[in-house]
Amino acid sequence: MDIELSNETVAYQSDFPQHLCNMCGKCCKAITTAYSYEELKKLAKEGQEEAKVFVEIFKRYNSVDEARAAVPDHVERILNQLKKNNPDFDESKVTFFYCPHLTADNKCSIHSIRPDCCRRAPRNGWSLFPEDCGFKGWQFQHKERVKASVRKLKEYLLELDLLPDDYVLQTRGKTVKEMKKFIHEKIKPWEKYGAALW
Ligand code: SF4
Ligand code: SF4
Repeated sequence: MDIELSNETVAYQSDFPQHLCNMCGKCCKAITTAYSYEELKKLAKEGQEEAKVFVEIFKRYNSVDEARAAVPDHVERILNQLKKNNPDFDESKVTFFYCPHLTADNKCSIHSIRPDCCRRAPRNGWSLFPEDCGFKGWQFQHKERVKASVRKLKEYLLELDLLPDDYVLQTRGKTVKEMKKFIHEKIKPWEKYGAALW
């Protein structure tokens, strides 16, 4: 049986659905990045916005165990994902951060001026948030929406294969070759999440 969400539900859950947050505070208490602290400092000096947030706003835990004690399930989930992505993964090289602006009742004390990365969280359906995060359903829907769009693009690529590369697509103002390049660029950011198999 097909169950369709009403337009109202879809709109309610779409852009910037910050109201879905149940304020467990876990994502503000354990944050990590692919970069070492030294690399972050260098990137921050070069002006990279997210690196600046890590260096200027977030605080470092002294050890992974300290982070584990603060948010056991979320930290374990992150570590498991890192292990899955890298068989040579070394836990001692991971740095966890926490935000000092989270209040004791899990509110953001700088909400109106919080950094962009917090405003856009969770960035997409694949962002690693706790199992009981209020965005779980939104993340599932986001993933399915992205997969459906990528599948459509791939179908269009197959149609374009039927035309010569120098044929001009009147409605797009592009040649088939240019259009294929454009579509491949659209798909590229999702390859790290498995787009090749969708
Ligand atoms: S983990 Fe999810 S529900 Fe908890 S504070 Fe973060 S966004 Fe909100
Ligand atoms: S700035 Fe606010 S939303 Fe961002 S991590 Fe800190 S407490 Fe959480």
